Formats: sequence, C-alpha cells, structure tokens
Amino acid sequence: MFDSDIETIALIAHDGKKADMVAFALQHKELLAQFRLVATGTTGKLMRERVGLNVERVMSGPLGGDVQIAARVVKEDVQAVLFLVDPLDKHPHDPDIQTLMRACNVHDVPLATNLATARLIVSNPHLEHEAERTTR
Ligand code: PGA
Repeated sequence: MFDSDIETIALIAHDGKKADMVAFALQHKELLAQFRLVATGTTGKLMRERVGLNVERVMSGPLGGDVQIAARVVKEDVQAVLFLVDPLDKHPHDPDIQTLMRACNVHDVPLATNLATARLIVSNPHLEHEAERTTR
C-alpha cells in the first residue's frame, strides 16, 4: 500500500471533527506513539493534553498550518496525513486545505480525509511493520 518508508505522520482535524480525532488517537495511541507526529496548532494541543502523545505543533490551520504541513509533504518529511475534514462547515483557509490535498496527491502520500480511511491506514499491517522499523 505504501511506497515510501513512513517515519512522520501528520494529524489535522477541523473543529467539528476534533472529538473524533481525540477518540481515534486514544484508540490507536500505542501505534501512533511509535512515529514522529506533527499536527496543526489546536489539533496538536489536544493530542498532547487529551491523548498524551508527543506531537510537534505547527501553526493553527487557519493561520497557515496546513500550508506548513503541505511543504513538509513536498519535502518528503511527512509520509502520511490523517486529516479529518468537516464537510459541513465553511473554512476561511480552504485554499490551504486544497494545497495540502494537492501536495499529497502530487507526491502520492497517503491521505485520509475521514475516520473510515484513517482507520484503514492505521490497521494496515505495513504500518505496524514501519513502526517496528522506526523504533528499532
Ligand atoms: P487546528 O487547524 O488544528 O489548529 O484547529 C486545523 C484546521 O482547521 O485546518
């Protein structure tokens, strides 16, 4: 499923999906903790305070965080993106969101935009293998 080695996973959740992201991260904490994690500002704060994951935080999404993560995808510093988008809300930074999605598609980086796909990614045996390799 994944062509490149996965070392860093980006986590982003729109406001309407933050509770889902916290629940997801709690459920998969052990696996996620084996990777380098980077998150947009508020999502990252929740990952630290509510889940207890060690996460690097960039700017909040509306302040350019999605663009910062897009740049890391382009530099191949991020190898998977779990981005829970809220399709029922408007986002002032929609162009930034499109940029991040485009960067993932241009560079063929796995991108989950909903919980079902995020679950599929973390349940892929290859990710377990990557986790073992990363922590070895
Ligand atoms: P946030 O950004 O984690 O800082 O809320 C996410 C987003 O809205 O793109």
